[in-house]
Amino acid sequence: MAPKIVILTGAGISAESGLGTFRDKDGIWTKHRIEDVATPEAFARNPLLVQEFYNARRAQAAEARPNPAHAALAELQRAHPGEVVIVTQNVDGLHEAAGAEVLHMHGALAGALCGACDHRWEAPAAMGAEEPCPACHRPAARPDVVWFGEMPYYMEEILDHLLSADLFVAIGTSGNVYPAAGFVEEARVAGIETLEINLEATEASALFDRTLTGPASEAVPDWVAGLLRG
Ligand code: NAD
Repeated sequence: MAPKIVILTGAGISAESGLGTFRDKDGIWTKHRIEDVATPEAFARNPLLVQEFYNARRAQAAEARPNPAHAALAELQRAHPGEVVIVTQNVDGLHEAAGAEVLHMHGALAGALCGACDHRWEAPAAMGAEEPCPACHRPAARPDVVWFGEMPYYMEEILDHLLSADLFVAIGTSGNVYPAAGFVEEARVAGIETLEINLEATEASALFDRTLTGPASEAVPDWVAGLLRG
């Protein structure tokens, strides 16, 4: 049977599309502390600040275009004879824009969620401090992104895929944010081959069987081309 591949992507795959990573020196994250904008407590304290932070990120993501790394993964999903599952920590929509199917474990900027009734809908370009839910009409709308301290989405499905994979690949992720950072260890324990693709070696590199370094827009298409050539 053709090998099943599970791929985890992080902010690094979107860096060359102009979306900053956590560590970028001038990135959006350096202007705000995580605890001020990306936790449920922050939203309870200052909903306007949090909405404005995500409004800015949504506007930035809407301008961004997929780069050759997103395109190569979409091509792999189409052309590889085995199953290719892409799981992303990113909240941008660049994998879908490139034509891939993806599990957004940290939610998506394109979505809105009612904190009161759990209704989900497409997020408007900008949301305010007392944004109403179209279903229950309470002013409890929030971005449908997973904040620090909240449970990521699709965990059971992702772990099922991971444990039935033949190869696990982590692309453009620092390995600092759990539970995604733990996938490589789960894979290792299960005897699954592991590969890291990153701009540079990371603190997690020692956990992988192999690390390929280079910008995602070059390293990912090269890896995919090699795999599809067989
Ligand atoms: P991170 O910022 O912690 O790490 C990014 C990694 O990408 C680093 O290891 C870096 O070496 C690597 N990298 C940077 N430029 C690269 C390039 N051109 N090619 C290949 N690799 C490159 O990001 P993370 O591990 O995804 O952190 C997780 C959190 O960051 C997630 O919760 C995610 O929601 C959030 N985040 C998302 C976005 C987005 O949606 N685009 C952007 C910033 C942060």
